[in-house]
Amino acid sequence: MERGCPTAGRLAGELRRLVLGAAENSLPDFAGRPIFDGPLVGIVDGDDRVFRALREAVSPRHFLPREVLGRPDGPVRVLSWALPFSRDIIVSNRSGDWPSELYSVARNNGGALNLELGRRLSDWLRREGFAAISPVLSDGYDAFRCPERGLSSNWSERHVAYAAGLGRFGLNGCLITPRGAMVRLGSLVTDAPLDVRPRREADHRAPCLRDGGAGCGLCLRKCPAGAISSSGLDKEKCYLRRQAIRERSLGDYSGKFRMLAAPIVKGGRKADGFSLGCALCSSGVPCESADPAPGAV
Ligand code: SF4
Ligand code: SF4
Repeated sequence: MERGCPTAGRLAGELRRLVLGAAENSLPDFAGRPIFDGPLVGIVDGDDRVFRALREAVSPRHFLPREVLGRPDGPVRVLSWALPFSRDIIVSNRSGDWPSELYSVARNNGGALNLELGRRLSDWLRREGFAAISPVLSDGYDAFRCPERGLSSNWSERHVAYAAGLGRFGLNGCLITPRGAMVRLGSLVTDAPLDVRPRREADHRAPCLRDGGAGCGLCLRKCPAGAISSSGLDKEKCYLRRQAIRERSLGDYSGKFRMLAAPIVKGGRKADGFSLGCALCSSGVPCESADPAPGAV
């Protein structure tokens, strides 16, 4: 580690302070309940070959970390974080065919906070003397339909979190972290020469994705849209269900609750909006709050 560089522990401590101390981390319409617990953090070298593989797995347009930073040489690191939803929020979303109000507002406001965290942690690193940028806040970030992969983007937080050793993909398409799948993910790219932690996972798939859910499969049975099969997640069916949730609930929620707006990027256009989700396939299941097969390779 070079002189003057913040340690990974100090950076993780700063992120924790930013999450737990943020005004946006409490829900005024739900007795000030916190949205997130403290974050999990992973760090990967920006030149790791996994990032080239993401051009196959996610989209040929997926950024390389060096491109994000605009640096042809020198150190490049990617810091990825997972923000676990607090227990009440998870419990509220365990049953039924529609996501709970508490989860829906927490997801929306937590998503807005997550973007702010990318900005605030990058600002902190810049004050320490390093370049830093959260790719989803960069001008070039986009979410789009890709002929080979359907719904896609040029910076997939799920795949980047896998690259940084934060977990493996489950049958439900979520990244199963040591704190489970009920998390929101974010990341930034920096030239701070942070120590890299080696990725433990030899396979990007959790055991349940490898065996088609034979040993569990609960998410497959829980999804009201039939979007999960033994081969994994059908992103299009899931998207259509989330659109239906949005049409059913957004007008009601935005009149009833304090919902934070945040930039949403789609097809090259950016506009402030609200994000509603579902997550019935990751609540009330074995991978909800922990990795059910932590030692399995
Ligand atoms: S519910 Fe079971 S099968 Fe589905 S992702 Fe979680 S552990 Fe895997
Ligand atoms: S988020 Fe909802 S619609 Fe999508 S796979 Fe999970 S349960 Fe199904």
